Amino acid sequence: MSRSAHPAGPRHADVLPEGHYTAPPADLNVLDHKVWAQTVGRGADGVVTVGGVDVKTLAERHGTPAYILDEADFRARARAWRTAFGAEADVFYAGKAFLSRAVVRWLHEEGLNLDVCSGGELATALSAGMPAERIAFHGNNKSSEEIRRAVEAGVGRIVLDSFQEIVRVAHIAQSLGKRQKVQIRITVGVEAHTHEFIATAHEDQKFGIPLAGGQAAEAVRRALQLDGLELIGIHSHIGSQIFDMSGFEVAAHRVVGLLKDIRDEHGVELPEIDLGGGLGIAYTSDDDPREPHEIAKALTEIVSRECDAARLRTPRISVEPGRAIVGPTAFTLYEVGTVKPLEGLRTYVSVDGGMSDNIRTALYDAEYSVALVSRSSSAEPMLARVVGKHCESGDIVVRDAFLPADLAPGDLIAVPATGAYCRSMASNYNHVLRPPVVAVKDGESREIVRRETEEDLLRLDVG
Ligand SMILES: *Cc1c(COP(=O)(O)O)cnc(C)c1O
Repeated sequence: MSRSAHPAGPRHADVLPEGHYTAPPADLNVLDHKVWAQTVGRGADGVVTVGGVDVKTLAERHGTPAYILDEADFRARARAWRTAFGAEADVFYAGKAFLSRAVVRWLHEEGLNLDVCSGGELATALSAGMPAERIAFHGNNKSSEEIRRAVEAGVGRIVLDSFQEIVRVAHIAQSLGKRQKVQIRITVGVEAHTHEFIATAHEDQKFGIPLAGGQAAEAVRRALQLDGLELIGIHSHIGSQIFDMSGFEVAAHRVVGLLKDIRDEHGVELPEIDLGGGLGIAYTSDDDPREPHEIAKALTEIVSRECDAARLRTPRISVEPGRAIVGPTAFTLYEVGTVKPLEGLRTYVSVDGGMSDNIRTALYDAEYSVALVSRSSSAEPMLARVVGKHCESGDIVVRDAFLPADLAPGDLIAVPATGAYCRSMASNYNHVLRPPVVAVKDGESREIVRRETEEDLLRLDVG
């Protein structure tokens, strides 16, 4: 591949267009472990390695684009959450962030539980051997068939999201001769400091039953009356990509307030509360996420303080991190196809994937970083926008980032922190094939989700 210099694109010294960037980093070759998986590093030859395998080898073996997942990092993060919360609390990994059978086995081995929110996620969890009692079933519109399968399998809890569902689950459980453990998901009126589309605890939204106006108390009343249900707790999930613990503080205060009202009205102390997930990760070096042990300490302190004040026994706490476990463990490896400098604006770098493997930039205005990984470079930084190959001008992977000015077709670049909500939200737009997920550990790589093929696509097309 020739590396002929392309016409001069904008440089940091030029007038820069508007965007979400600050000054370019001092050295583009340095990889910040805030955003890169733990075992990622740059070898003496300039090639980036992960889990002891270099990215050129990974590209040859598995092709590009590919999600490259650091298995040791995943296990370490899962373990850190498990250890931080200890024996007095449960950690449910939110499967929607990224789920595969290998991931289910890792979670099982590391002692975590699992949240699912569809029949497909439930099937994946069960087929990989997750014990049903360690699975929680979520969702605002579970079908009767999904509920029946979950009850039959013996899931540890179903999280009820509406008045209709309270009755539906009770009937199904009763018809199967079972008493299903359930929690009721409530909205506590907290708006987490995050993007509107992913904020989920303010009241004007589809999830949960509002605490306001006594609706949550009424839901509890009904659930306690139904023989098919064993109400074990209250659930609250206030949003995603949250850095500020104060939202959890208010949520815990209100959830405990409801537990107290339940005790006063029914003489029952519910044994569990779930405070959801939503803990933020670093997508760029500007983000400063909290460590699991800090989060565990903050949450358990808040809950026991609130319970002491209400003279309640402290319930068993559970949390549901998804992004915080898998997000930082993977990067997407792309090959550069074209490099197009636009005078006075920026340089468009086209890669062999795009919005089909990472919709978050288009959907949430998410910010990412990017690095040249198949070699190091001492060229000066150029302001770049990494775009995909789809027929859509909004097909942007990284809106604003600096890459070395000698970037050329054939170079491999990687976007870190793509472990969560990328493969799980991937689409076949333009009939582009979804990339594999490659787990790397101790010098070995293996596909845990294989690359989609044209045969896979055509198999569904039965017209
Ligand atoms: C999405 C979701 C989570 C996980 O959110 P993250 O931001 O990935 O931690 C946890 N619980 C519920 C109920 C969710 O909907």
